[in-house]
Amino acid sequence: MRLEVHKFGGTSVGDAARMRGVAEIVENAARATRLVVVTSATAGTTDRLAALAAAAGNGDRARALEILDTIRASHARVVDELGLGDSSVRAEIDRLVEELGELASATAIVGALAPRTRDRILAAGEKLAARLLAAAVRARGVIATARDADTFLETDDRFGEAAALPGVAERTIDAALRPSLERGEVPIVTGFIGRSPDGATTVLGRGGSDLSATLIAAALRADEVTIWTDVDGVYSADPGVVPEARPIRQLNFREAAEMSYYGAKVLHQRTMIPVSALSIPVRTRNTFDPAAEGTVVDGRVTPGSHPVKAVTAVRAQALVSIEGRGMAGVPGIAERVFRALARRGISVTMISQSSSESSICLAVPEEQADAAETELKRELRADLSRGEIDEVAVRRGVGLVAAVGLGMAQTPGVAARVFAALAARRLNVLAIAQGSSELNISLAVDEAETPEAVRALHAEFELDRLDTGEDTTRRLDILLLGWGKIGRALAGLLLDRDAHFFERFGLTPRIVAIADSSGWLFRPNGFSPEELRRLVVSKAEGRALASLGDARTGGGTEMVRHATSYRLARPILVDVTGSDASPATFLEAFRAGCDAVTANKKPLAHDLATFRALTEAARATRRRLRAEATVGAGLPVMDTLEMLLSTGDRLLAAEGCLSGTLGFLMTRLEEGEPFSRAVAEAVRLGYTEPDPVADLTGQDVARKAVILGRLSGLADSEAPLVPEGLVDEALAGLPLPSLLEKLQAYDRPLAARVARARESGAVLRYVARVTEGRIEVGPREVPLDSPAGRLHGTDNMIVFTSERYRSRPLVVMGPGAGVDVTAMGVLGDILRIAAERR
Ligand code: ADP
Ligand code: ASP
Ligand code: MG
Repeated sequence: MRLEVHKFGGTSVGDAARMRGVAEIVENAARATRLVVVTSATAGTTDRLAALAAAAGNGDRARALEILDTIRASHARVVDELGLGDSSVRAEIDRLVEELGELASATAIVGALAPRTRDRILAAGEKLAARLLAAAVRARGVIATARDADTFLETDDRFGEAAALPGVAERTIDAALRPSLERGEVPIVTGFIGRSPDGATTVLGRGGSDLSATLIAAALRADEVTIWTDVDGVYSADPGVVPEARPIRQLNFREAAEMSYYGAKVLHQRTMIPVSALSIPVRTRNTFDPAAEGTVVDGRVTPGSHPVKAVTAVRAQALVSIEGRGMAGVPGIAERVFRALARRGISVTMISQSSSESSICLAVPEEQADAAETELKRELRADLSRGEIDEVAVRRGVGLVAAVGLGMAQTPGVAARVFAALAARRLNVLAIAQGSSELNISLAVDEAETPEAVRALHAEFELDRLDTGEDTTRRLDILLLGWGKIGRALAGLLLDRDAHFFERFGLTPRIVAIADSSGWLFRPNGFSPEELRRLVVSKAEGRALASLGDARTGGGTEMVRHATSYRLARPILVDVTGSDASPATFLEAFRAGCDAVTANKKPLAHDLATFRALTEAARATRRRLRAEATVGAGLPVMDTLEMLLSTGDRLLAAEGCLSGTLGFLMTRLEEGEPFSRAVAEAVRLGYTEPDPVADLTGQDVARKAVILGRLSGLADSEAPLVPEGLVDEALAGLPLPSLLEKLQAYDRPLAARVARARESGAVLRYVARVTEGRIEVGPREVPLDSPAGRLHGTDNMIVFTSERYRSRPLVVMGPGAGVDVTAMGVLGDILRIAAERR
C-alpha cells in the first residue's frame, strides 16, 4: 500500500483553527494511504524557546519563566479551543512545560548555556506540537500517536546543526515507525530533532522539519512527501520580496536544492538530499488553500519556457578576499584556505577566483566572519610576512543573489543578461560565481541592495509571467489582430515558409493569438497548422471566432493582456484590421514588451496626438513599430525611407501614386472606359475598399500620405489634410447599385479631363505629394514620359527626392495593392524584427 509523509510547518499548526484544518487534511489522507505526519513547533514557538534559552543562559531565570508561561498559555489555549481538555494531552503538555521550567532554572543558576542544553530546550516546541496534533487527529477517529524523534532519529553531535548519521538513521527510523504503520496507526513525529550518539537531543538547524520529513520518507521508502506550508508552493522568488512572484509547478531535485541552499526559506537547505537519489517526489502545498496545485520536486528536467526558474537571496554574509601578486605561482593556497575554514566549521557559501589566480574571494555567513578572518590570518601568516599575500580583507554586510535553473546550461547569454539587468539598475556586483554545473549564477551585492537585485533579475527573466511549458528560445510569437483576408494570407505564408525562416533567422514564427471583431483565441504554445487551417476555413465560411470552442469575447487589448501574462518569445502584435480601436491595444502591447507591425493605416494616420503617443511609447519601451504594408503594400517604401534617413541623407520630397484602385481607374479611363463602368469593374475584381467611396474621395491615399509625412519627419505637424477627391464624399454609405448609378454623372466630366491632358502630352494620375511641412493629394496631369506617366494598372510608385538622390530621384515601383502583397509586406516587417531580436 502507498505510503506518504506529510509535514506541517509552524504556520500550519499556528492556532486552533489551523490545527483543525490540518487534522482534517490528515484524516482525509489517512483514508487513502498509509501515512507518517511530521510536525514543526507552532508558529513563533521555536523563536520563543530560543529567547528562553538565551535568558536562562544569561542567568535571567525570571525572564526565562515569563517566556515559558507565554508558551504554556498559547498551547493551553489551543487545547481548550479544540475541546481536548478532557484528554490526556493537557497533562502531557504540563509535564513538558514543567521539565522545561526545571531545565531553564538549572541553566540560569549555572549562568551559561551549553549547546546541548539549548538543543534540548528548542526541541520542546515540536514535542508540544506533536502531542497537540495527535490529540486533534485522534479526536477525528484516526488512530494516531505522538512520536519524539529524539528517541530514534540518529544524528551526529553537532548541536544546533546536526546531521543524520548515514546508514544508521535509516535503520533506526524504520525500526521505530514501521511497526506502528503496520498496526494501521498514524505516527505524528516531531520534526527538527534527533538524537546524538550519546543519547542527547539534537536539532537539525532552523527550518529543519522539512529535512526530518525527507529523512523519514527515505528511510521508509515512502512514495511521496508533502510539505504543507503557508504559501502555494515554491515561488519564483520570495513572495515577500517580489510581490509578483509565481508558484513554480515543477522543479528538479537539483534546482530545488540550489534554491534552498541560496536562501529560499520555504525548504530547508538539505531537504532534497535524502530523497533525490531515491527519486521520491516532494510536493509543497498550502494548508490555507489545500486545493491549490502547489509545486512538485522530482527527477524530471523541464526547463520550460525559460532557462532561469527562480531567483533567491541569502543575506547576512561577508566576503573574504585573499589577494596577492605572489599567489599565482604558489600551489595549494586555495586548498589551505578551505582546510583552515573547515577546521573551524565555517561553511563557505560562495567561491569565486579570478582567472589571474591572484585573488581568491569567498563568502561566509557574517556571524562567522571574525572566526574566518582570524583563522585565515593564522594559516597564511608566513605567506603574509613574505609578501606573497598582500592581505586578507573582509567585507561585511553582503547579500548573495542566485539565479537558478537547469535550462541555463543550454542557453547562452544568461550571465550577460544577469549583469545587464543589474547594471541597468545601477546595482554594483561585488563578486560572481557560476557553479560548474551551470545550474546557477550567483553574485554578491551590498546587503541593502539584495531585494532590488532579486527584483531586477526576476523582471529580466520575466518570472512574473506564466510558463508556457515549452522552450521558447527559438520562437517568435505573433499576436494577430484581425482575421480577415490579409490575416489569413499571412497565416498561410507563415505556414508555408516555416523551414525557410528557421534556416534564415534560426527562429520559428508561430501565431499564438488571433482576434477578430467578435473575440479572440489564445494558444500559449502556438496554433497547430491543422487548427490554423480549420480557422481559415471557418472564417471564410463566415463564422466569427467568438462562435468557436474556447474563444473569449472581448477586444484586442484584453487579448494582449492575457497573452502576455505568459512568457512569450519575442512577441509581436500584428494589426491587419481596418479598425479605429487599435492605438490602445498597441500601447498595452508595448507596455507588455511586444513589438508591433501594422498594415492598418488608422493608428498612424489618426490625429497627431495618437501618432505621437504611439511612437513615444515604442521608444520609451524600446520596442519596434513597423508599418511597411500601410503604404504601397509589400513594396519597400518604408524600408527605403529608413535606409535614406539612417545613412544621414535628407529627404526633400516623397511623391507618387499610392492607390492601386485609383491607378486601375486611371488606366481604364485612358482606354476610353466610362468612369462608372470602370468602378464597377474594380469592385468586381476586388480592388476597392468595402465602400468604394473611401477610395474615390482620396481618403485612403490621404492616410498613406500622412503616414509618409509623419514617419519621414517631413510633414509631421497638425496641418489638416483635405484630399481633393474624384467624387463627392456625400456618396459614402450608398448601396452599390445606387452608387454606380450616381457615378454616371462623373463619366463625362472625367472623360473630358483625360482628353484635355492627352492633348498636352500628359496623363491624369491620382498623386500624393509630401514636401517640407506640406501634404497634397489629388488628381494631377503628369507628363506621359515621367515615371508616374508610364505607370500602368494597379501598380504603385513612389519617388524619393533627397539630397543624395536629387537630380535623379530614387523610384520604387511595382504592385502596390492586393491581399497577397500586403501580407508579404507584413511578413517583411515581422522578419525585420526577427533579425533584430534573434
Ligand atoms: P513553514 O513554517 O511552513 O516551514 P517557512 O516560514 O519555513 O514555513 O517557509 C515558508 C515561507 O518561506 C513563505 O511564507 C515565504 O515567506 C518564504 N519564502 C522565501 N522564499 C520563498 C520561495 N521562493 N517560495 C515560497 N516561499 C518562500
Ligand atoms: N520549528 C523549527 C524552526 O522554527 C523547525 C521548522 O519549523 O522546520 O526552525
Ligand atoms: Mg520551514
